[in-house]
Amino acid sequence: MMYMTKMMIEIRNLLQKVGQSSTVSLPSIVVIGSQSSGKSSVLEAIVGHEFLPKGNNMITRRPIELTLVNDPKVSADYGEFPDLGLHRITDFSLIQKNLTELNQSVPERECVSDDPIRLTIHSPRVPDLSLIDLPGYIQVAGENQPRELKRKISELCDKYIRGPNIILAISAADVDLANSTALQASRRVDPRGERTIGVITKMDLVDPEKGAAILSDKQYPLRLGYVGVISRAPQQTGLFKRDTGALLRQISKNEKSYFSTHPEFGPDSGVNIGTVTLRKKLMHVLEQQMSSKLQDTTAAIQRELEETSYQFKVQYNEEPMTAEAYLAASLDDFKHAFKRFASSFGRPQMQQLLKEALDQRVLDQLAAKYWNKPIEDLSPAPFEPENIADLPKADPDSQFWHMQLDTATSALTRLGVGRLAATVVANAIQANVDKLVNKSTFAKHPSARQVINEAAATVLADRSYTTSDGIEFSLKPYKYEVDIQPQEWSQGRDHVAGVLKMELDQCQRAMGNLENSVGGKRKLKEVMNFVDKARKGEIVVEGETRNGAGGFSAALLQKGREAVFLRDRADIINMRIMAVKSRQCKSLENKYYCPEVFLDAVATKLTQTSVLFLNVEMLNDFYARFPREVESKLGEQMLGGGLERFASEDSRIRRHLDLIRRKELLELVLSKIEGLRRFHRADDDVAGAH
Ligand code: GDP
Repeated sequence: MMYMTKMMIEIRNLLQKVGQSSTVSLPSIVVIGSQSSGKSSVLEAIVGHEFLPKGNNMITRRPIELTLVNDPKVSADYGEFPDLGLHRITDFSLIQKNLTELNQSVPERECVSDDPIRLTIHSPRVPDLSLIDLPGYIQVAGENQPRELKRKISELCDKYIRGPNIILAISAADVDLANSTALQASRRVDPRGERTIGVITKMDLVDPEKGAAILSDKQYPLRLGYVGVISRAPQQTGLFKRDTGALLRQISKNEKSYFSTHPEFGPDSGVNIGTVTLRKKLMHVLEQQMSSKLQDTTAAIQRELEETSYQFKVQYNEEPMTAEAYLAASLDDFKHAFKRFASSFGRPQMQQLLKEALDQRVLDQLAAKYWNKPIEDLSPAPFEPENIADLPKADPDSQFWHMQLDTATSALTRLGVGRLAATVVANAIQANVDKLVNKSTFAKHPSARQVINEAAATVLADRSYTTSDGIEFSLKPYKYEVDIQPQEWSQGRDHVAGVLKMELDQCQRAMGNLENSVGGKRKLKEVMNFVDKARKGEIVVEGETRNGAGGFSAALLQKGREAVFLRDRADIINMRIMAVKSRQCKSLENKYYCPEVFLDAVATKLTQTSVLFLNVEMLNDFYARFPREVESKLGEQMLGGGLERFASEDSRIRRHLDLIRRKELLELVLSKIEGLRRFHRADDDVAGAH
């Protein structure tokens, strides 16, 4: 018979996991009683351990759903809080501490919470039982207890004492039964006393005669009867803790020595006494109640399973799904996308990226050494556009122009191309990885996304130093001399013309923006005229220009200066485009006339050498290591429930998985019930045969 309760409790716990299962509920024993009625003492006597929160003013604020599991193999009793992930706590004072903390976590103004604390206790000495300890009824609300507390406790208890639960109504023998709040409450929901067990505590505090009268059930009859107990824990003596099982032994001994000295409780008295009797009764009654509910429960579960299967069919076409499969598919897709990227991003792409970066540096050098300088102020400029117009009608014999080109070349070769190349390529890869992630299912998973991006960063960072050092080393000869071939020259000429054209477009675009921002072409022209005149000294601007000048505000003047700068730059670039395209720049011999072409050819050489290195040191290494790194880092993240968390981040997958889990749990429950019924029938057959 015991097997039944054990299985039913297991089923009950499974059903709890199904969640939101409103239609299915299996009976539990709910424990109610007034404060100080001895409720905790009874529960502890049943469990055989002191573990409930105690102390002055300690009010239970949350229901404790206590599952006792009889497990003959256990050597040291232990408790578990499944919701908190706390397992195998053998120190019951720690369980008590946890319960106290969980209890105190309910804010005072909320009074009580109906969010239960789940606790499971495993021991070879406990019966299989499922008990719910509820807050004790309070008679008179104390001064520092809110008035609502009494009402809220009562409401909470009402919720739990509904059928099919069994009510364990605790009343103290030294309080008139007519005043027992527990019995009053139980009578409201179970008027005929069919599922109420009366427990009378503190039997030692009343005359045996009176005590026996209470138990004999005349005044307030209950079909399941009363049990009298003396469950006060005997004082602990000595330094050592009570050994396992000692509490119940001591209580029974205590009870025996009291009850056996009073003939009112003798074997023929017909009254039920003692904690051991109570335990047996609880097991028996729970078992009865559970088996009587088996039929209804089965039908309800079947209905729920049908509904779930239907949903599974219509919503998901019965497509199977697991968190593992989802992860594997996501990872597979990502790896494929990455492969496609890898085959599209190689030397030519790196070459282009790095060359673009170097083009900018070439422009910087040209601006610094050959072209304009930013106009700092309205004061007459040292810069004379006429000189620039000559430039560089450079005399190839002039040492000055030799030096200009040499320093510009040297600045280019020594600007730290290694670092620049490694950074440009690493950034591009990182940005592409981010793009791939965005397009993949991982986009919906913030933490996985972070892991993937970090994996890319780690692998790239790993090679960044050696790559940039290697590149620098391989570029070393260029730092002394760059030998340009005619072919390279003519390619450089074509390319730089394009770069200059782009730069020109950019100047023009910026100019357009400036025009718009000041309210038109004409307005900008006016300001520019003023700035020009001031620069040439035709207008003397007195004092600071911070507050504006010539009727223009400071902000407007600033824009005027920018516009003048852009115009001059555009003029020069225009001129230089013509120069580059001219016959003069066709030949390498004229390199001093055409610094743009020469520097472009240098930049291309630097790029080509760098890319050879980047390809071997960085890119190939990245392509080989990144997928493995992602897999291993994601694997780490999926440990300890990470996989479930991951899958449920996607609401569509979460719903799918939840439905499947629900279906599987319900199927499991049904198969367990089926097994149980077969067992039950066999049991009945054996009983019938005798
Ligand atoms: P709860 O507030 O209902 O949980 O009650 P407790 O279990 O904390 O008991 C209240 C007080 O009554 C405590 O001081 C217990 O030691 C005491 N007590 C509990 N059961 C008995 C009993 O059977 N006999 C006697 N004499 N005292 C008891």
